Amino acid sequence: MKYKLETIPVWDALHKKTECLFCYLMKNAKKRYIEYYLGSSVMNPETRVKVNSVGFCPEHYSDLANAEKPQPMSLITHTHLLETRDKLKPYLDKLKNEKSPGKTGKHIVEIRKVLLEREKGCLICESMQTTLNRYTYTFVHLWGNDEEFRTAFLKSKSICLHHLPAVLDMAGNALKKKQLSEFFSEIIDFVEKSLEKSIHDVYWMTQMYKSENRDKDWKGCQDAQKRAVNRELGIGRIFSK
Ligand SMILES: [Zn+2]
Ligand SMILES: [Zn+2]
Repeated sequence: MKYKLETIPVWDALHKKTECLFCYLMKNAKKRYIEYYLGSSVMNPETRVKVNSVGFCPEHYSDLANAEKPQPMSLITHTHLLETRDKLKPYLDKLKNEKSPGKTGKHIVEIRKVLLEREKGCLICESMQTTLNRYTYTFVHLWGNDEEFRTAFLKSKSICLHHLPAVLDMAGNALKKKQLSEFFSEIIDFVEKSLEKSIHDVYWMTQMYKSENRDKDWKGCQDAQKRAVNRELGIGRIFSK
């Protein structure tokens, strides 16, 4: 499967010299989609229907609520709650009217199921997945076709562990078969190197809290613990698959 190339944003992200260019891109993508759903799309009937039926995962629903846009958010939550209420109502009624204690458990199971179902889909995750596919496709394509990009990438801080599988998955789509083994070995070597650096940096941080090292140089490791978490978990994650 071929995806649309997004050469300019991927190059721009590489130039930012962050810990992972996909974290940078996906953090921005999330921000764009949050703004989209809180923007004029809120008045679009098609979007309203999708918001009510698909909804948002807990993380992105909270992000929307915390974006400080009370007016569009009140429109979204009003219709979303109405639909949640309609879906829950039959099971709430059944439990309210249940006379047999032995049968109450199954109604509680149903109530929980409805609520979990409401949290399962996510319009923002769906859009972010499409965007991530384009970015990973572009990245692998550039690696295989643009020597300048490949060299610049190998001078960067690599990519996080969270985004590694998405990149590896895309290799078969964007490269010729004969390029695959070289790609895998180069990417994995590079990611392993950055992983070792993270391990070394947090270790150095642990040492800096020992009194005998009080006067030693931090070597730029003051925030190593945060970077270590981001190396594992990434930023701008997609939650709902
Ligand atoms: Zn990342
Ligand atoms: Zn989501």
